[in-house]
Amino acid sequence: MTDTDAAVVGGGATGVALARDLAERGVETTLVERDDLAAGASGAMHGLLHSGARYAVADPESARACIAENRVVRDVAPDCVADTGGLFVSLPADPDDYLDRLEAACADCGIETERLTGAEAREREPGLSPDTEAALAVPDATVDPVRLVAATALAAERAGAEIRTGTAVTDVLVEDGRAVGVELDGGERIGAEVVVNAAGAWGEQVAALAGVPLDMTPSRGAMTVVGDALVSGVVNRCRPKSSGDIVVPCGDACILGTTDVEVDDPDDFAVDDREVALLFEELTPAVPALADAAVDHTYWGVRPLYEPDADGDSVGFSRTFSLLDHAERDDRPGFVSVVGGKLTTHRAMAEAAADLVCDRLGVAADCVTADEPLPDADEATARYGLSDLLTGTRRASRR
Ligand SMILES: Cc1cc2nc3c(=O)[nH]c(=O)nc-3n(C[C@H](O)[C@H](O)[C@H](O)COP(=O)(O)OP(=O)(O)OC[C@H]3O[C@@H](n4cnc5c(N)ncnc54)[C@H](O)[C@@H]3O)c2cc1C
Repeated sequence: MTDTDAAVVGGGATGVALARDLAERGVETTLVERDDLAAGASGAMHGLLHSGARYAVADPESARACIAENRVVRDVAPDCVADTGGLFVSLPADPDDYLDRLEAACADCGIETERLTGAEAREREPGLSPDTEAALAVPDATVDPVRLVAATALAAERAGAEIRTGTAVTDVLVEDGRAVGVELDGGERIGAEVVVNAAGAWGEQVAALAGVPLDMTPSRGAMTVVGDALVSGVVNRCRPKSSGDIVVPCGDACILGTTDVEVDDPDDFAVDDREVALLFEELTPAVPALADAAVDHTYWGVRPLYEPDADGDSVGFSRTFSLLDHAERDDRPGFVSVVGGKLTTHRAMAEAAADLVCDRLGVAADCVTADEPLPDADEATARYGLSDLLTGTRRASRR
């Protein structure tokens, strides 16, 4: 059995950021991903680097976390980010007072905004509907998550982490009630002082391998790519968060999103074309050229939502993350889960998890991931045989 200090399960944004953070603090780390890096939600999302405005009214804690990390990701990974800006666009059908509430909530959360008339908004974003009454400009940006994950993984490797892809964790080894490592498909065993479950929507399954319950609520979302650059910045419907309320520019295409439907199994879920139709119904009033736009492809991602005490529709679940120390929660020392959150806040999630792991290992080093720039993303994607969000989702949607 090979040994390491920390074994991280899952090579999405959270797992690679954790491997990077631990390795940069001098912790010997092995990350295991069953597929390619970013094969889960991290490679199947809109590519919005949230300003936090989307959450400011209903979920200010998430909003504050997003604006803080929006600034960090721009700084450390400029070659993964496009500073497109974003607009919340108020149409006649939208709630009268929502723009005012949004503006006030953004101010409370420290998100800078600029109020625009309909004419000013259309000058900035000519594809908007002539019915646009007013808009709020926010510091949304776009991020290529595949490039970001690859660059983060490369930073982790350069700091000494081992990144293993195409290998699933099939068991969490437990001795005398304590997690002591993982077993991989093929039977290889890796001994570890701490095993971290960063398996996103699959977190419940990985926790079950360690014999602990974790009630995830995986939720699918549809994203449709149209092959025209109909917008230059992020366009958000100006109303409480709901299905079909965002258009995200992506190169010479744009991505319409999204829906929110709970699924039982993140590997095996039905999709529903009515969700794609809904995206067009809800977004064409904001960007009328969508009525004639050609669909390039549609892809689906599964959110790693975890809110065990919540009732009702997952669209309203908080987007904050959860760090679970199973030593305290389930009497399973050596096992930690970090789930939920957003891609935008992945680094902060990893920092919190790394703080806990370092505390357990008696390592005193500070986190440096908010200040140290990531390696070149082109070099990183070549290293892992990846390319970018659109190429990845085109390939996935053909499977
Ligand atoms: C439709 C949709 C749109 C979204 N849009 C945005 C957005 O615009 N902006 C934003 O900030 N966030 C967005 N998100 C949220 C964001 O994508 C996720 O919160 C984030 O990517 C989760 O990262 P993660 O690393 O925790 O999980 P994942 O990326 O899902 O990674 C988990 C990994 O674990 C691996 N794994 C599972 N089981 C095992 C095993 N047994 N052994 C080894 N590996 C295993 C999986 O293959 C997977 O790669 C969106 C999500 C969805 C679904």
